[in-house]
Amino acid sequence: MPHDFNGKTAIVTGGGSGIGKAIVEGLVQAGAKVLIADLNLEHADALATELGDNVKAFKVDTSNAQNVAEMVDTAADFGGSLDMLVNNAGIGGAAEPLGAYPIDSWQKVIDVNLSGVFYGVRYGIPKMLETGGGSIVNIASVLGSVGIANSGAYVAAKHGVVGLTKSAALEYGDKGIRVNAVGPGFIKTPLLDDNLDEATAAYLASQHATKRLGTPEEVAKLTLFLLSDDASFVTGSYHLVDGGYTAQ
Ligand code: NAP
Repeated sequence: MPHDFNGKTAIVTGGGSGIGKAIVEGLVQAGAKVLIADLNLEHADALATELGDNVKAFKVDTSNAQNVAEMVDTAADFGGSLDMLVNNAGIGGAAEPLGAYPIDSWQKVIDVNLSGVFYGVRYGIPKMLETGGGSIVNIASVLGSVGIANSGAYVAAKHGVVGLTKSAALEYGDKGIRVNAVGPGFIKTPLLDDNLDEATAAYLASQHATKRLGTPEEVAKLTLFLLSDDASFVTGSYHLVDGGYTAQ
């Protein structure tokens, strides 16, 4: 049965591209009002124009706590409440072994991929509590449970997101807020296209049981389920959508 998000308001960070964009589209189709919060305002504006009055574009740098606080207030003003939050914005970082990992890239990846999720939870939860609760999905990665060479900062940040998700779920499970993490395998998005050559993308595809990369829509379907009341007893868990990548 399709989800019904009528009367509900969501934020999707990094919502102008890739996985975030597919989640925004799914939420709007199911009746939600959505704040498309992205560093790339051009992407967010283009999607907002396409989707109409139920969405609003907002420029945010999720590694900036003040920006994230303003994002949360803007969403609640736009929709009247904050019911769903998808902490999706993320970056890849340098491709180097840890013994040579550039310090500035380490800091940037931790700031965006881990602290950015913390800021979302930090400001989103009090806003959700004002209207009785909500549902949060943090987009981690398969690299939240296994490692990979030459992406140490990303792997560390994504493992951190899984831990933060569990702690938040324990703290707010009896207050009407569910918090889950999603672990996508390698998904065909601009993040992947911009960072990988064709041979590496083909190699990564071969590492999935499906022998292909995933699509943003496949990640969005799981995310929408976790956001919905159909997942009312699902919290504090880390859900893979990885084409069997971690099965071996
Ligand atoms: P994407 O296509 O690059 O989209 C990410 C969006 O987030 C972009 O619009 C980007 O803007 C924006 N963004 C970057 N830094 C930001 C910041 N500090 N504040 C707000 N927005 C910011 O990436 P994606 O592949 O859809 O990835 C989305 C999430 O899924 C990330 O957390 C990623 O780690 C995770 N993930 C992706 C894969 C994959 O294979 N693609 C696999 C597992 C997990 P710019 O265009 O300006 O950078």
